[in-house]
Amino acid sequence: MRNDIERVLIDERVIGKRLDAMAADIERDFPGGTLVVIILLKGALVFAADLLRRVPRVLEIECLNVASYHGGLESTGQVDFLDRHFPEVRGRHVLLLDDILDTGRTLYAVSRRLREEGAAAVYTAVLLAKDKARAVAAAADYVGFVIGDEFVVGYGLDYQGRYRNLPYVGVLKGAVR
Ligand code: 5GP
Ligand code: MG
Repeated sequence: MRNDIERVLIDERVIGKRLDAMAADIERDFPGGTLVVIILLKGALVFAADLLRRVPRVLEIECLNVASYHGGLESTGQVDFLDRHFPEVRGRHVLLLDDILDTGRTLYAVSRRLREEGAAAVYTAVLLAKDKARAVAAAADYVGFVIGDEFVVGYGLDYQGRYRNLPYVGVLKGAVR
């Protein structure tokens, strides 16, 4: 697996230090009461597990499956909700977690749905944000790292379902794609 990686962009230790700071920001910013955290599967799984264990407050965890990338390299623009049930968020403070902010369509669509479902407030956190213009008006309240506009894998992010378990964020060799 590691032979398929051309270059490590953000290593495990640097990610861990950044998550310490993000967790402290989240802990400081949110009012008391139980926070509902929504993890967008599967990409945000690793990020969420490492971040949330650093947040020492009462929270509830929900997961959502949405499809926007369909395993390839290009965003299709459409965001599909794949679950039969949507988490109960009416009147709740929600923190939405995703792996990466690219075109912004995923965060935009899911945030809008959460508001439609009656969430009292919706905040968003991403591990990565690409330094590019968004296709829609979407921004994250908490960003781990801003990266260049290139395709990355690892730490939850996949290429055709693989490489999510790499402990760092890296760039694939051209020959692999
Ligand atoms: P957006 O809706 O912002 O265009 O894209 C968000 C989703 O696209 C992410 O949740 C992620 O699944 C996928 N994505 C965007 N950029 C990358 C990337 O560089 N690498 C991988 N593996 N997935 C990406
Ligand atoms: Mg994905």
